[in-house]
Amino acid sequence: MTITSTNVPVDASDIADIKFIELYRQTPAMMHWLDHEAVLVEVSDQWLKVMGYMREEVIGHKVFEFLTEESRKIAKPHIESTNTSKGLILYDNREFVKKSGEIIDIELTAYWDQNEQGEPLRSLAVLTDVTKRNQVMRALTRANEELETTNKELERFAFIASHDLQEPLRKIESACSYIREKVEGKLDADTIKYFDMASSSAARMRDLIENLLRFSRLGTSSVNFKTTDLAIPLKAALSNLQQTIEETGAHIEIDELPALPIDEAFVRQLFQNLISNGLKYKSGDPHIHIDALQQPNGWIIRVTDNGIGVPPEHANKIFESFQRLHSKSEYPGTGIGLAICKRIVDRHGGKIWLDVSYSQSSRFCVQFLNNPPNQEGAQSDDNLRAN
Ligand code: ADP
Repeated sequence: MTITSTNVPVDASDIADIKFIELYRQTPAMMHWLDHEAVLVEVSDQWLKVMGYMREEVIGHKVFEFLTEESRKIAKPHIESTNTSKGLILYDNREFVKKSGEIIDIELTAYWDQNEQGEPLRSLAVLTDVTKRNQVMRALTRANEELETTNKELERFAFIASHDLQEPLRKIESACSYIREKVEGKLDADTIKYFDMASSSAARMRDLIENLLRFSRLGTSSVNFKTTDLAIPLKAALSNLQQTIEETGAHIEIDELPALPIDEAFVRQLFQNLISNGLKYKSGDPHIHIDALQQPNGWIIRVTDNGIGVPPEHANKIFESFQRLHSKSEYPGTGIGLAICKRIVDRHGGKIWLDVSYSQSSRFCVQFLNNPPNQEGAQSDDNLRAN
């Protein structure tokens, strides 16, 4: 059987019978068949449907005519060199131009066939239209980039705003205490009450701002991974909490902890926040137990207290910033402590969660990995850390 095109007659006697051609044409996939000079010998109906051509408009034409200038530059040398390679399967991307002028992205899988003399005979190719997929991917990449930029801008804004707010606040606090000292004894109880209210509001605002600053720094400063015994940042955290530990009569029980690649300063902050919550949300004398469970890819560190506990329905909410379950008159706080913990753990590539299966009180679990991702690639803005 011989298939002829307008320009190039092609001997296709090796094709069993006309049924094969029918099958080839009707297979619901974009396929084409080129001769050794890249002339289209056969195409599937789907090829024609996608490209918008009639069969007689394409058979006998070089495939390059249906490519963009850019793809032509890539395909031409490729086809020339491929012609000399035996039975090579080629996977590549091309931009095809439809009859309407629309450009589509094609993923190409082509097989180069040879005759008995080893001369290039034809290329049989399956084409996948990936235009929509690529558009979605490009939109996704663009959206991600925009999100990243917006996030960075927001981080920077939060940092600058909170950093700059500290100064006037310090002045308000010192002015309040100066005036209070000056007029000590001359004020009535009501005025003193309002003075104290102003001072404690300023102190609370300072707490909020400091925490916000800490939180925003965590998003921008680099993570200095170094294999460190977790007992080191834990002891530093306990030393910072020494006064509260003594005042509350807390008992802290520490099991053996592993050495892991961590940022010591960040993990000290993590322990400090978890333990100070255990001391704050107490019921009776606080008892806090810190232990570690080995996992195939790392460790889970557990901080368990004997306090008031967290209702399981709030297990996720408490890790969001400014989410508090109590009023500040019941328990002081800013609602950022656990959000800070989450960010620290995220930057270590791990996870933090409330163990809802432990219902007596609160048990926080932190997963640290043996090999955290981006150990070198962490974002760096050490000026922020230094401030
Ligand atoms: P803050 O303590 O400043 O309110 P956190 O982000 O540290 O902020 O905690 C968020 C909320 O989670 C707290 O308001 C509290 O209701 C709850 N919580 C956190 N830790 C504990 C704990 N150990 N025991 C009971 N409740 C806790």
